[in-house]
Amino acid sequence: MTTPRELYDLQVIDHRIDGIDTERKRVEQRLAAGVNRPDLTDEAERHSSQALTIADNVHSRREEVDRLQERLTGLESRLYSGNTSRRDLSAVQREVDSTRYQISQLDDTILEQEEAQRTHEEAARNARTQMQDAEDQWQGAETELNGRLSELARERETAESERQSLAATLPGADLQRYERLRRNKAGTAIARVDNGRVCLSCRMTLTTNVMRQLRDKSRQVPCSACGRILYQP
Ligand SMILES: [Zn+2]
Repeated sequence: MTTPRELYDLQVIDHRIDGIDTERKRVEQRLAAGVNRPDLTDEAERHSSQALTIADNVHSRREEVDRLQERLTGLESRLYSGNTSRRDLSAVQREVDSTRYQISQLDDTILEQEEAQRTHEEAARNARTQMQDAEDQWQGAETELNGRLSELARERETAESERQSLAATLPGADLQRYERLRRNKAGTAIARVDNGRVCLSCRMTLTTNVMRQLRDKSRQVPCSACGRILYQP
C-alpha cells in the first residue's frame, strides 16, 4: 500500500514540473510575440524627405540671394561712381533699397526654413534611434529568454528523472489512481492537512472521525468535501 506521504512527495515533484511547463509556455509566448517594437520607418522617411525638400528650397533661395547681391554690388558701384546723373541716382538708390529689402526678406525666410529643416532632421533621427533602442532591448531580452528556456529544460530533465525513480517504487494501481485524481482535481490529488484540522485544498474543517483515521499514516483517507487524499505531515 502506498502511503499518502509517498504520493505527496510524488506530487511535490509533479507540481515542480507543472511550474516549469507553465513558465516555459510563458517564455515561448513572449519569444513568439517578439517585443513591442515600434515601426517608425515611415515616420523617419517622411521627416527625412521633408528636410530634403526644405534643403532644396533653401539652396535655391541662397542662389537668389547671390544674384541679388551681385546686382546690388553693380548698383552700388553706379551709385558711387560719380558718373551717374542726379536724376538717375535717385532711381538707382530706389533700386538699391528695394534690392536690399528683398535680400533681407530672403535671409529671414532662409533662417526660418533652416530651423524647420533641423526640426525634421532631428525628428527623423529620433524615430530611427527609438527603433534601434527597441531593437537592442529586444536582442537582450531574446538572449535572456532563450537562456531561461535552456535552464528550464535542464530543470525539467532533473525533475523528470527524480519522478521516475520515485514512481518506480510505487504500485501501478496507486499511481493510476493518483494520476486520475490529479487530472480531475486541478492538478492536486493529495491535500495537506494543517494543525487546525483543515484540508488545505478545499479549506473544509475535518471531522474528528477523519482525524482519527489519519493517525494511521499508511492509510489513504479522502477529504469528504473535495475527495482528495489527505496527507498530514
Ligand atoms: Zn478537501
